[in-house]
Amino acid sequence: MNNVLAADIGGTHFHVALFDSEGRRLLLSEGRTDASGGREWMLGELRERAQGLMAKSDQPVRSCGISFGGPVDFRHQRVNSMHVTGWRGFRLGQWVEDNLSLECLVDNDANAGALGEFRFGAGRGTDSVLYLTISTGIGGGVVCGGRVHRGKDSMAGELGHIPVSDSGAVCSCGGRGCLETVCSGTAIGLRGRGLARRKPEVMARTLELCSGNLDQITAEAVFRAAAEGEKGALFIVHEAARALAKALLTAIRILNPDMIILGGGVALSGLILLNPVREYLDEFSAPMLECSTKVVQAELGNYSPLYGAAALAPELR
Ligand SMILES: [Zn+2]
Repeated sequence: MNNVLAADIGGTHFHVALFDSEGRRLLLSEGRTDASGGREWMLGELRERAQGLMAKSDQPVRSCGISFGGPVDFRHQRVNSMHVTGWRGFRLGQWVEDNLSLECLVDNDANAGALGEFRFGAGRGTDSVLYLTISTGIGGGVVCGGRVHRGKDSMAGELGHIPVSDSGAVCSCGGRGCLETVCSGTAIGLRGRGLARRKPEVMARTLELCSGNLDQITAEAVFRAAAEGEKGALFIVHEAARALAKALLTAIRILNPDMIILGGGVALSGLILLNPVREYLDEFSAPMLECSTKVVQAELGNYSPLYGAAALAPELR
């Protein structure tokens, strides 16, 4: 059987790997993304790492899947990212076919993450999963009946942009009060700085973790201080968990998936977020509407989209 190539191209990371026909990862080539290099740098990096791995493969390699950290028009196989110059409307799959002679499919990282966890991670053996990746922002993907549900505009599962607050801050999407403005790593860091400015006495440990420098407060510091029991940090984490639980309950009411899988740096920071999310879900759930949807952490860690990319490769689909 042939091996397949998979790539996960993110805003900061660049992962390329070789998988066997059973979806086992054989070789990994990972580095950092130099976004300032634009599209040409990224394509050069992809070509170099892919060719290096294919040269080491003990089996022929004929197909490839790519997870891309930005909007992808799956139907037309076009990348639509505007964050890095040169990507808008670019046919990345076609480029791979032309330059590496591999049949290739491309999807965004949230859909790829959902597919990766469904096929090879926490969602193995289920029929439907909702996957959320919570890091700087919040992305999401849905697998229903074993297939990724992308929706008309490839926007299905974007739970980060569900409104959870009327008086909320402006979101990266231009909307107001989205889940992302309360529960993303960026939002938690921002809220940490705001609370430390207003009430430094309830954020003393968070401040200490950042050498007393208020402007250096990150989500990571807030989570660490919360895990140690700091009042202010716990308040911020619980607000985030409460908003997340509300958004998840909305998703459960619409999809009633077998499993909700939380990935990304914020969700993987430990049970400090997951436990209150489960408690709030219990609190919000109606006694007469049975719900056995499980909420779990991603099993493949930061590599869910890379495994999903492998599952996108035409030979593993
Ligand atoms: Zn939004």
